[in-house]
Amino acid sequence: MGMMRKLIKGITKRILQGLEISFNDAQPLLSLRPNDLDFLFENANSIRERFRGNRVGLCSITNAKSGGCLEDCAFCSQSNFHHTNIKTYPLITPKGMLGRAKKACETKAHRFCLVTSGCSLTEDELDNICFGLNLIKNKFPDLKLDASLGVISLEDAKKLKQAGLSRYNHNLEACEEFFPKVCTTHTFSARKRTILNLKKAGLEVCCGGIFGLGESEIERLKLGFILKELDVDCIPLNFLNPIPGTRLENNLKPKPLELLKMVAIYRFIHPKKEIKICGGRENNLKRSQAMIFKAGADSIIIGGYLTTRGNPVEKDLEMIKSLGLEV
Ligand code: SF4
Repeated sequence: MGMMRKLIKGITKRILQGLEISFNDAQPLLSLRPNDLDFLFENANSIRERFRGNRVGLCSITNAKSGGCLEDCAFCSQSNFHHTNIKTYPLITPKGMLGRAKKACETKAHRFCLVTSGCSLTEDELDNICFGLNLIKNKFPDLKLDASLGVISLEDAKKLKQAGLSRYNHNLEACEEFFPKVCTTHTFSARKRTILNLKKAGLEVCCGGIFGLGESEIERLKLGFILKELDVDCIPLNFLNPIPGTRLENNLKPKPLELLKMVAIYRFIHPKKEIKICGGRENNLKRSQAMIFKAGADSIIIGGYLTTRGNPVEKDLEMIKSLGLEV
C-alpha cells in the first residue's frame, strides 16, 4: 500500500473510532493523485455509511421572491449589478407558499425551503413568511420547513422558529480571505453573525458554500474548517454554474474529480453532518452525479433551483434507487 493510501486508511480509522481530524491532517489529501481518488471515495463512503446510514435526504427549494437584489455576489443571477434574463417578482403570498409546499410534497421531498432574494427582509415580508409557514405547518405537518432569507437578527430568527421553521440556510459561500472577491456590499462577519443568531434562536443551521468561484483548494479546505468550528447541522455544497450576465460568466468549471475529491474531504472533516449537494450538480458533474454518494454526500436538492432547472425528479429518484440507497 502506497504512502497516501496508508494516510487515508489511518485517518479513516481514527474517524470511525469517533475522533476528529485537524486542518493539518486534511491538507495532504488535497494533493492526492487521480489513482488514489477511488480509495479516498471508498473510505469517505464507509464514513457516510457508519454515521449517516443508507438514507438520502431530499430537499425542495422555491424562490419566493426573485431578483432585484442590491448586493453584488459575483455568481448570482438575482443581483441588480448583473444583467441576466431571470424572471423577477416580489414576495409571493402565503397562499402561494402553501401551493408550492404542496408541489414539493408531491416530489417526495421531506424538506421544503422558502428562499428570498436580497440581503434581508422588511417587517411586512417577515410577517407574511411567518403566516405562510403557519399555513404549511397545519396542512403538511410532516414536511420540515426551512428558509433562506438573508442576514437575520436574533429576534427575527426566534419569530421564525415560533412560526414552525426548523432550519435556516445561510451560506458563507467561501472562506474569510476569499469572501471580498465574491461580494463587496456586505461582509463575511455579517454572514457569520447571522449563523450565531440562528444558533442562539435554537434553529438548525444549514451553511456551506460554492466551489468554482476562483478560490484555491486550500481556501475550500479553510471554509470546511470554519464550518466545523461553527458546528453547523447541514453543509450545502454548490458548484458554480456560470450564468451569462454575471461577473463569473467566463469562469472555467472545476473538473468533476476535483469537486468529488472536495466532497470526500468534507465528509472526513464532518463525519456526522448532513452534506447536501446543491446547485451546479447537473452541469458540473454530468454523468458522474451518482458518484456524490460514494464520495460521502447524503443529501441533495431535487426539482430544480432558484433560477435554473435541475434533473427531472424521477431521474434523481431512479439514480438513488439504482445505487441501493433509500430516500
Ligand atoms: S446571493 Fe443573495 S444576497 Fe447575494 S446577490 Fe444573490 S440574492 Fe443577493
